[in-house]
Amino acid sequence: MSILKQQDEYILEVEDVKKYFPIKKGVFSKQVGSVKAVDGVSFQVRKGETLGIVGESGCGKSTMARLILRLLDVTDGRIKLEGKDVTTLPKQDMRAIRRNIQMVFQDPYASLNPRWTVERTLLEPMKVYDIGTKNERRDKVSELLNKVGLDPSYAKRHPHEFSGGQRQRIGIARALVLNPKLIIADEPVSALDISVQAQVINLMQDLQDQYNLTYMFITHDLSVCEHISDRVAVMYLGKVVELASKDQLFSNPLHPYTLALISAAPEVNDAQKKERIVLKGDVPSPANPPKGCAFHTRCPSCMEICKVETPVLNEIESGQYVACHLYE
Ligand code: SF4
Repeated sequence: MSILKQQDEYILEVEDVKKYFPIKKGVFSKQVGSVKAVDGVSFQVRKGETLGIVGESGCGKSTMARLILRLLDVTDGRIKLEGKDVTTLPKQDMRAIRRNIQMVFQDPYASLNPRWTVERTLLEPMKVYDIGTKNERRDKVSELLNKVGLDPSYAKRHPHEFSGGQRQRIGIARALVLNPKLIIADEPVSALDISVQAQVINLMQDLQDQYNLTYMFITHDLSVCEHISDRVAVMYLGKVVELASKDQLFSNPLHPYTLALISAAPEVNDAQKKERIVLKGDVPSPANPPKGCAFHTRCPSCMEICKVETPVLNEIESGQYVACHLYE
């Protein structure tokens, strides 16, 4: 079933996207298989909302971000930004598109040039896109530092002179400098102390209201996801297994994998939480995913059909999509 409705209100539409990385062996580099990092993913992001993408490491969530930014090309499927298919767009035309999508990275220190001052870090994108006069750019730097809670006098400092939380504030200011429409945040708080995480998340929420931003927020942390998301897509082994509003997902999770994740998260929804479900084994390799439902090797509710037939994402409740044979 298509989960795309009323195209106009979406800033981002991902339609049955696949990304397979070839596995090559031997002197002739013969392809002997492929790693199915993203395997038929569909979702959409509405203007002004935050879509949380949650899952364990290796589930394909970061690859998905790179595909949207066209840092990688899709193997199959389409990605549309404001209705424009970017998967077939010539690389030179991506420059204009990239201005509207910015990224906030997990490690703020690694993502900032250690030799550049904060001012240069924030000025550079404006220079590249030829935005404003010299004075206007400098004003913008001061304005953004203020907005992210840093003193504008810090503009002359280098990244090593800041704490982790402050560096992430600089990373957020850099993402805002070109007035993007969509920000993809890939684990933006997981490298920060718990107390700082809350500050950075609150800052991102404030900025979302002020600048009418849309977020795609990638995280492995369900409590962070619950705090910031409007809707949540749960990924497992390259596929979306459940997609629902935050309230639906946390009060009435349906997919066995979502149930297990929520039961294991320490701070999520304690009132609703049932017994902890401990999943057996590790996530299988995406180079050799199990047949049928990719979760069947760890699923406490596995049935015979699950071992042979891949479940498709179906709308079970209004706005709540689940890929599981239990609901067919
Ligand atoms: Fe579990 Fe079967 Fe549902 Fe997969 S399809 S999650 S194995 S019950």
